Amino acid sequence: MGIVEKLTSFVPADRISTHPDHLAVAAHDESTLEAVTPLAIVWAGSADEIARIVKLCAEDGVPITSRGAGSALEGSTIPCANGVVLDLSRMTEILDFWPDDLQVRVQPGIIYDHLNEFLKREGLFFPPSPGGSGDVATIGGMVSTNASGIYSVKYGGTREYVLELEIITGTGERFKIGNRAVKRSSGYNLVDLISGSEGTLAVISAITIRLAGLPEGRLQSAFRFNSEVEAARAVSEMARYGLDLAAVEFLDRRVMTALNKLKDYGLEEVPTLFLEFHGPDATVRSNADLAGSICEESGGSALQLSDGQRPWEIRHFATDAIKYWQTGLTIVRNDIAFPISKLPDMVEFCHDLGEANNLPIFTFGHVGMGLLHALILADKEDPARWQKAADINDQIIRKTVELEGTISGEHGIGLGHKNLFELEHGTAVDLMRKIKKQFDPHNILNPGKIFDL
Ligand SMILES: Cc1cc2nc3c(=O)[nH]c(=O)nc-3n(C[C@H](O)[C@H](O)[C@H](O)COP(=O)(O)OP(=O)(O)OC[C@H]3O[C@@H](n4cnc5c(N)ncnc54)[C@H](O)[C@@H]3O)c2cc1C
Repeated sequence: MGIVEKLTSFVPADRISTHPDHLAVAAHDESTLEAVTPLAIVWAGSADEIARIVKLCAEDGVPITSRGAGSALEGSTIPCANGVVLDLSRMTEILDFWPDDLQVRVQPGIIYDHLNEFLKREGLFFPPSPGGSGDVATIGGMVSTNASGIYSVKYGGTREYVLELEIITGTGERFKIGNRAVKRSSGYNLVDLISGSEGTLAVISAITIRLAGLPEGRLQSAFRFNSEVEAARAVSEMARYGLDLAAVEFLDRRVMTALNKLKDYGLEEVPTLFLEFHGPDATVRSNADLAGSICEESGGSALQLSDGQRPWEIRHFATDAIKYWQTGLTIVRNDIAFPISKLPDMVEFCHDLGEANNLPIFTFGHVGMGLLHALILADKEDPARWQKAADINDQIIRKTVELEGTISGEHGIGLGHKNLFELEHGTAVDLMRKIKKQFDPHNILNPGKIFDL
């Protein structure tokens, strides 16, 4: 009996499919990498069922790719042709809620914005806030990619919030790892290991996270600059001052132009910073004043948005604006992070490379943490240009590693940056291979992602 028949014997008919329409959705994520059609998709219903599915797949050596919303950008959600997609998006329950402890336990398929909608009534929120995908990304997917976002400069990324996980390893064994203590020094930190492991070590079936209180006051401001490097300098200066920023988003002039093209916003097409401050009124005002002075000293000036225009709504569409910039062009992307003082150099480096090679580069991101996206657009059908874009991307990533940075600040490695993973981690990759074998001895959990065994 094949794996599909075996699964059909206990998974209800409305939660397993081999229909081409369902498989076509499960075949890709939001990266520009080639889709791969799996054998079947199963919408998981419970941890017990997941354990049974994994055991059967382990016996038959069938790959399993866990899937939340499929919004990943590096191919980490692209399945194997001989594999099964385990879709967690129907496991959306809030299992426990402890507002007095600022903690919640959820199933992995709940969507980020939906969870925050629920938490709002108790004055709480889960801060990582992925810039353009909070309305789709699942908490399981965010834990598995260690996602971060607009508010991570103040509050941290997803990993910082995960307290306890229920996981099913590649042998179908179920474990509870971590606990609800916020401070602990008790043995190896397996919770941190699973966070960011892109479905290669275990399937996550329940997640306990800590939360933050909604800020008492908020203040937003925006600044325009004459050059991208000036804007980047202002950010690294604000960081050096230890300024308490809740958010600092950078959008270069090409991204602003793309946003106007997509949404007709009528924005000034200049390098821009959107800032937000959280706290009591007097504190946010003095922080905003200090940020304003630093921006002005770096050559910036206040930018007035039109009535009704909201910075985070504009920011939400940055990736889409680049994607739809010109028909026929495809994004070559990176997701680099480095020590904050290097931000001006990296911004300059990316723009110089784009100009020297006559290829459009769009830089933007949650830069307050030294995180930058430099997206290059090129025609896939033009081999010389496409290769040039790949070479530029390679140079940007190599430069990041030279500066003691990382090739992925928030999107993960997936398939997209696997080729440069060893450049960053060296012989530590051998240690990771050994860890992978402990969790997944049959190599069935999202095989071929991050590194090869
Ligand atoms: C427009 C746009 C903007 C974005 N902005 C940001 C941003 O600002 N910051 C950011 O960090 N990311 C961003 N992303 C990327 C993406 O939204 C995040 O990586 C998100 O965390 C993925 O969640 P998902 O539910 O879609 O996961 P999926 O894409 O379904 O899965 C991602 C990875 O997690 C694994 N996985 C999923 N669920 C489980 C589970 N329960 N158990 C084990 N493994 C699992 C998958 O196998 C895969 O390896 C953006 C994407 C888009 C399209």
